[in-house]
Amino acid sequence: MRVLVTGGAGFIGSAVCRQLVLQHGADVMNVDKLTYASNPRSLDAVAESPRYSFRRLDICDRQGLDRALAAHQPEAIIHLAAESHVDRSIAGPSEFINTNVVGTYTLLEAAREYVSGLQGPRRANFRFVHVSTDEVYGSLGATGLFVEETPYRPSSPYSASKAASDHLAHAWYTTYGLPVIVSNCSNNYGPYQFPEKLIPLMILNAIERRPLPVYGTGCNVRDWLYVEDHAEGLIRLLTHGRPGESYNFGGNCERSNLDVVNRISEFCDELISPDSPTRSLITFVEDRPGHDLRYAIDASKARRELGWQPRRTFEEGLRATVEWYVENGAWWASLRSGVYGGQRLGLLGA
Ligand code: NAD
Repeated sequence: MRVLVTGGAGFIGSAVCRQLVLQHGADVMNVDKLTYASNPRSLDAVAESPRYSFRRLDICDRQGLDRALAAHQPEAIIHLAAESHVDRSIAGPSEFINTNVVGTYTLLEAAREYVSGLQGPRRANFRFVHVSTDEVYGSLGATGLFVEETPYRPSSPYSASKAASDHLAHAWYTTYGLPVIVSNCSNNYGPYQFPEKLIPLMILNAIERRPLPVYGTGCNVRDWLYVEDHAEGLIRLLTHGRPGESYNFGGNCERSNLDVVNRISEFCDELISPDSPTRSLITFVEDRPGHDLRYAIDASKARRELGWQPRRTFEEGLRATVEWYVENGAWWASLRSGVYGGQRLGLLGA
């Protein structure tokens, strides 16, 4: 299968590229602008493969996209390129509108023209997987789960930009017949995640014995999914997903932020500092503006229609993640000293 992946130098995109090339024997072209959040080293495992190619490209560049599609002749697109960090969207929403909304629009239009030139089974079987988030649904109270029919109520500039892109994706199916499938996934974690997100930030701070900053009281709940499990689900959408539909992915694993940080601290103590516990580094800091209380996913449609379910428990996945960051300083050290040193982002007036 020939697949064009956008955002393949990012966290989830690199997992998708690695699985497609190494486990599925797919021919992958990765189109990525290489923003601060990317790390080409995440693709070391496939970089030399004849099945993998890379183009540095902004998804807002229509001509560049046209050339990439013409050169690669994909049978599917998996669209992951995005600005993805909520705190950065609070500090500066403009890139989120450009990439997530205008970029998705530009890619949908490029795909529409490309597909209109395909014939027969190549046209009938083409798929466009638009990768989105459960954050588009807004916040849950203490009970309930997000289902695919839950109305959109995004809270942050990030989730609002993703919601807008989801609506565009569905509209390109309804209006133009582009065979789009939308995925809405809960929080991912695992190796190769840029250390601005909760789990890698806490791991690196614990390794360096810096404070572990927990927003508010740490009571906000997220449903955590191991990144390789998410990537498997996205690839299944190519063959089992129904165009025009949305699919929720989640780990069936709700944890409060404080629980997550406590568990990271325990794994770090076990692996690196048994004699000086890191729990004392936990510090409660000013909450995120508009911080959604709780996300939780009902992934039964993905289980039923795709035969998908997460393979790793949170305990297994989190332990593997902590071990990976402890052993792979070469992947993150230059990010930490150069691109982003762990400072607080997204406070109003800051
Ligand atoms: P990431 O920030 O790690 O990676 C994003 C990638 O997109 C980077 O490689 C970056 O260089 C690239 N990119 C950004 N702007 C671009 C542009 N204009 N043109 C081309 N490339 C560009 O993000 P991630 O965590 O891997 O998330 C991937 C997708 O999955 C996003 O759409 C995100 O909204 C969605 N998602 C993420 C999570 C999560 O927990 N991380 C959960 C659900 C959904």
